Order: sequence, then C-alpha cells, then structure tokens
Amino acid sequence: MMDCLFCKIVRQEIPARVLKENKHALAFRDINPQAPTHVLVIPKKHVASLEEATPSDAALLGEVLFLASEVARDEKITSGYRLVLNTGSGAGQSVFHIHVHVLGGRPLSWPPG
Ligand code: 5GP
Ligand code: ZN
Repeated sequence: MMDCLFCKIVRQEIPARVLKENKHALAFRDINPQAPTHVLVIPKKHVASLEEATPSDAALLGEVLFLASEVARDEKITSGYRLVLNTGSGAGQSVFHIHVHVLGGRPLSWPPG
C-alpha cells in the first residue's frame, strides 16, 4: 500500500508523534485533535476498514484495542475515554486504513454526532 497515509507513517516516510507501539500496532497523536487526548491506534498491516477485515485479523484487532487501552492508561484519563472506529465514508471515515480513535480528557456526550 504505497500511497496509504497511515502505511507511510508506519514506514516512517512521514512524521508522526508516536506514543507507543508493539509488534503489530502503532499509536500516534491525531494531527487535528478533537479532545485533550486524541490518539490514533492502527494495525501496522494495511487493512482498509473493518469491512475489509477477515477472521484472520481477529488477533490483530485485539492488539489494536489493547494498545489503545495502554495509551489511555499512560495518558491518565481517569474520568473515562472513548474508542471510535469510523467505518465507511458515511460514518466519517476519511483515511482507509483501520484506526481506532482514543478520545478523552473532556466530557464526551452521548449519542455521538
Ligand atoms: P477518520 O475520519 O478516518 O475516522 O479519521 C482520520 C483521522 O486522521 C482524522 O482525525 C485526522 O485528523 C487524522 N489525520 C489525517 N491526516 C493525518 C496525518 O497526516 N497525521 C496524523 N497524525 N493524523 C492525521
Ligand atoms: Zn495503509
């Protein structure tokens, strides 16, 4: 996936404020934060969206979620945090490489917009 933005971040071809990574997932700050903590957690492997994921990606997606929880702990978001996984353009997905938003540090209303 040569021209995928987030694959380029994985390959360090474009800079990102990386917070944490493990063998299969990477966490970095969103360039346009919507909350005091706004971090994106991605699989290092290119998967365009949750709709493209297969059962063989189940462990990978689990690693993404666990890295997200570690980031939230490191950020000391004591009042709670929200994970968002926009899937499809109608839901606001603009980068087609799976990413979980970790949002926290301010009140988060429900339902989301
Ligand atoms: P989506 O709308 O697909 O759920 O989320 C994409 C996110 O990627 C947005 O929150 C946007 O601010 C973020 N983003 C877009 N381009 C870049 C970039 O070059 N670097 C970083 N760190 N975040 C980006
Ligand atoms: Zn990609």
